[in-house]
Amino acid sequence: MAEQTIQTCNRNFEKLITRLSDLDKNYNLTKIRSAYEFAREMHDGQFRESGEPYITHPLAVAGILVDLGMDTDAICAALLHDVVEDTDATYDDVKKQFGADVANLVDGVTKLDKINLASKEEQQAENIRKIFLSMAKDIRVIIIKLADRLHNMRTLGFRSGVKRRDVSLETMSIFVPLANRLGIRQLKEELEDISFSYLDPYAYAEIEQLLEKSKREREEFIETIKSRIRKRLAADFDPVPTVEGRVKSAYGIYKKVYEQGKTFDEIYDKYAVRVIVNTVTECYFVLGIMHDMFQPIPNRFKDYISTPKANMYQSLHTTVMGREGIPFEVQIRTWDMHHTAEFGIAAHWKYKEGRSGKYKFDERLNWVRQILDTQKESDDAEDIVRAIKNDLSPEDVFAMTPKGDVISLPQGATVIDFAYAIHTQVGHKMTGAKVDKKLVPFDYVIKTGEIIEIITSKDPSHGPKRDWLNICKTNEAKAKIRSWFKKERRDENIVEGRESLWRELRRNMIRITEEELQELVVVDMKHHGCETLDDFYAAIGYGGVTLSKIVPRLKEEYTKRTAEAEKTENFEFTPGVSKSASGVIVDGIDNCVVKLSQCCSPLPGDDIIGFITRGHGVSVHKKDCVNYLSQKDAEPDRWVPVRWAGKELPNYYKVALEVVGYNRIGIFSDVLASLSEARITTHEAAARVLKNGNFMASLTISVAGTAELEGVISRMKRVSGVLSVDRSAK
Ligand code: MN
Repeated sequence: MAEQTIQTCNRNFEKLITRLSDLDKNYNLTKIRSAYEFAREMHDGQFRESGEPYITHPLAVAGILVDLGMDTDAICAALLHDVVEDTDATYDDVKKQFGADVANLVDGVTKLDKINLASKEEQQAENIRKIFLSMAKDIRVIIIKLADRLHNMRTLGFRSGVKRRDVSLETMSIFVPLANRLGIRQLKEELEDISFSYLDPYAYAEIEQLLEKSKREREEFIETIKSRIRKRLAADFDPVPTVEGRVKSAYGIYKKVYEQGKTFDEIYDKYAVRVIVNTVTECYFVLGIMHDMFQPIPNRFKDYISTPKANMYQSLHTTVMGREGIPFEVQIRTWDMHHTAEFGIAAHWKYKEGRSGKYKFDERLNWVRQILDTQKESDDAEDIVRAIKNDLSPEDVFAMTPKGDVISLPQGATVIDFAYAIHTQVGHKMTGAKVDKKLVPFDYVIKTGEIIEIITSKDPSHGPKRDWLNICKTNEAKAKIRSWFKKERRDENIVEGRESLWRELRRNMIRITEEELQELVVVDMKHHGCETLDDFYAAIGYGGVTLSKIVPRLKEEYTKRTAEAEKTENFEFTPGVSKSASGVIVDGIDNCVVKLSQCCSPLPGDDIIGFITRGHGVSVHKKDCVNYLSQKDAEPDRWVPVRWAGKELPNYYKVALEVVGYNRIGIFSDVLASLSEARITTHEAAARVLKNGNFMASLTISVAGTAELEGVISRMKRVSGVLSVDRSAK
């Protein structure tokens, strides 16, 4: 590139003015000239990395916009696009001199400049493309931004190698898809080719070489085909439709070669011939003629007229075989479709308003608003509206951190959601938020394009507020806030959770020890990420584990285990032995009902003996039970030896106790409290005053065995005032 001075810039600007005045458009040349002069003065003394005066850049961007057929204000904004960002000029200065329209365009481009493009993750690239589309209330902002990027790409050779690669990656992941979405083929292909040449210079050079080598024959080939088609069309058309020929872009060929594994010679649509007609009917008519002239290659016909691409592209595509045995693609389209294919959304300015000369400012802005704001149907804009709408999920808003990282949130999200979306700790430590540098309340609802700064506390104990749960919108933020409270209030939650779980177990007649419980809930613990039983209690206490969801399964599992324990006992260890849920084994008798007698309520560990009742199976008594002692000699044959099944059988046994103590106020409730602390189920409890003035409580409780009973008794004996605790016969 020849080095430019201010003088050459001025000369280039005059060339631009001449081009504009030659075009049939109502350009406001005075306004464009003063925008150029303003920008030149503001950028005075600034230089590009190429060493050229800075004004070469906005001037070149303006030139690209002229090629795209953009209007006066867009061209002015292109000339001024860097003044607010890089010079002392302000939004108000621009507005005062060039009007709100230009100022807003410049402002839009400046805002887009603040977005951090450094993240290459696909999701972030997608977010950035969306924020671009949604932030630019006026689609011209995007077109200016694309032109800006194109000129930066054209002059990328002046930057360092690393920078070239980074910028090329950004261009490929953000700007090429944007240009494609807006259907601006010219911008898209050039951006793609330049990025490609930096990203894979060897492949690019190879393709360039191949193209160069075959240039002569290629040109000859295309010329022959074109003239044959023209000759044939002349029979049916007057005037003869436009026939163009071209070779696919370097990147287009690269994609086919590398993505589809084809060799250079295998690429069918390396050559493309284009026929442009006036009506849709003529398109299909020409298609018939093409298939008559050349052999169509099967499965290569595409009707983008009846089914346009998302970016509004319309054409008929077919691949045919020439007489020389070289395949080529034929694209058939109307002029309208052609303009859309080349300029996409920019065609709206270039061909519709430009040609008609009806330059209605408000109408155009309305049209742009429709694209982004409403779904109102309107003639030709409808397709574009639909195409762009598809890209934006209206329920999303995009806001940025001061560093320019884009955060995507659902509509209605508040600054709290934003803070948690950045990082959990940013959320927990949040003390306030600034939107566009102004302090806002916690329930401030975020709008697209806002730059949000979260103010955080350095105090490590600072945490979220409970009412944030009602303010924030996203489940992510809510979950993180809940989890904070879960951790902070752990002790309380453990107590709460333990109590409610055991209450529920008792209600469901699930009688197990804590150890057995741990075994039973191991699945639920794992499912809820609990490592210890305390974690699990805490989760219940907090509400992270819902009892009504786990208890039915526990009950089922408990019943199953109990049944299995019996089976195992029967088949594998002691055949011919009977054992019921009472936990007592009657040697030598299979499958009989075993009941613990009510008179002495035996507990595992007690010495026991069985009595064969008439029709009610075996009744089990303690060996020191008065009934056994008094009757054992009367019917000695009916007494049979029995034994406890052993530790593996989870079971609970009712036992009656008598507690005697001084009759102080509160002694009864303290006795009961000692039971609930030990998580003992109480079935009956009654208290009275004895003749001697002492207090006596009669209790019926459930325990797993004598060992547990001992524990309960000694616990009760520690209650102040209690004198004795004894098992009692009923
Ligand atoms: Mn720029």
